[in-house]
Amino acid sequence: MMTEIAVTKVKKAGALPAGQDLVFGKIFTDHMFTMDYLTGKGWHNRRIVPYADFPASPAMLSLHYGQAIFEGMKAFRSADNRAWVFRPYDYLNRFNRSAKLLNIPVMDVEENHEALFKLLALDKHWIPGKPGTSLYIRPFVFADEPQLGVKVADSYKMFIILSPVGAYYKTGFKPISIKVEDKYVRATIGGLGEAKTPANYAMSLAAQQDAYAGGFGQVLWLDAVHRKYVEEVGTMNILFKIKGEIITPALNGSILGGNTRKTVLELCRSWGVKATERQISVEEVFEAHAKGELEEVFGSGTAAVISPVGELTWKGQKIVINNNQTGEFSQKLFDYVTGVQSVKIADQFNWMEEIKG
Ligand SMILES: *Cc1c(COP(=O)(O)O)cnc(C)c1O
Repeated sequence: MMTEIAVTKVKKAGALPAGQDLVFGKIFTDHMFTMDYLTGKGWHNRRIVPYADFPASPAMLSLHYGQAIFEGMKAFRSADNRAWVFRPYDYLNRFNRSAKLLNIPVMDVEENHEALFKLLALDKHWIPGKPGTSLYIRPFVFADEPQLGVKVADSYKMFIILSPVGAYYKTGFKPISIKVEDKYVRATIGGLGEAKTPANYAMSLAAQQDAYAGGFGQVLWLDAVHRKYVEEVGTMNILFKIKGEIITPALNGSILGGNTRKTVLELCRSWGVKATERQISVEEVFEAHAKGELEEVFGSGTAAVISPVGELTWKGQKIVINNNQTGEFSQKLFDYVTGVQSVKIADQFNWMEEIKG
C-alpha cells in the first residue's frame, strides 16, 4: 500500500548559484525526502521537507558500528529544458541489494521511485543545464537507534538529498596514473564488497593517501586472497581493451556491480564489440602490454562516466597505456553515454526517465 508523501515547502525557493563553478557535493537544493523505520511499524512517515540539519543521538548505532548504505545517481537537463534521470531503477534496486547485505530493512522500490521523482519535480529548477553538469542524487539509510550494544538496529532513517554538480572533466580527459595496490585490500568474497556502504570507503582512504603521496591518482585493487586478480580501481569498475576485446572482472562477490559498467557492457554488445566478464590477473594485463596487445584501460562510474588510465605501476614496474592518451574506444563510450544523458543522442535503450510535473 502506497502511503502519501507529506510535502512541506521552503518559504522562499532558492536557485542555482549563477556564474560560478559547481564543486562536487557542497551545495544542496531546497528540499529533501526522508522517512523512518521502526521494527513492527515498517517504513513510515514519508515526507519532503526543506533541506536542513537534523537532530541526532550521539549513541546512534550507525555512528558506532557502521550500519549504513548509500546510492549515487544523476539527473540531467536537456537543451529543450526537460529533465531526466539516468537508469533510476538500476540504482534503486541496488540500494535494496546493499540493504540486504547490511541487514537494513528493504524498501519498496516503487515507493522510493515515487519519492525520488516527486522530490526532483519540486527542485527541478536546480538541475544545471551547461554541458557536463548534472544534479547528483544521494539516497542513504542509516541506523539511528540510540544504544551502544552491537545489534541489528530497530530504527532507521532514509534520506534523499540533491546536489548540483559541475562537469567532471573541465579541461577534457586526463588519463590517470594508477598504483596497483599490494598492501591494502578493498573487499573480500563474503564481505561487503558488493554493497555501497561507508565501510568500503573508510577502508580505502589509507591506500588512497599512500597512492597520492607516491604521485598516483588512484589505486587498482587486487583480490584479497591471491593478491593477483584485478577487482576495481578506486571507487570505479575497471575495463581493459585487449586485441579489440573488452574484458572486465566478473562480479564475484567482492566487486561492486556498477551501473556504468553494465551500461558499457550493453553498449559493447550492441555495437558488436566482444565484451567478456571474467577473472583477469594483473600479470595477464602486463603480459598483454609487453606483447603490444593492451590497447586501452579505463574506469567506469557514475561521477566520471569513463576515466581513462594512462599508467599502471605494479611493484615498482610501470607500463604506459596508449601513450598516456585517451583511447579512441574510451572516448567513444564517453561521448555516447554523455550524449544519451544530455538527450542529444536518441535513447534507444530506454535509459532515461523524464521528470514530469
Ligand atoms: C558506486 C561504485 C562503483 C560504480 O558504480 P556506478 O553504478 O557505475 O556508479 C564502483 N565501485 C564502487 C566501490 C562503488 O562504490
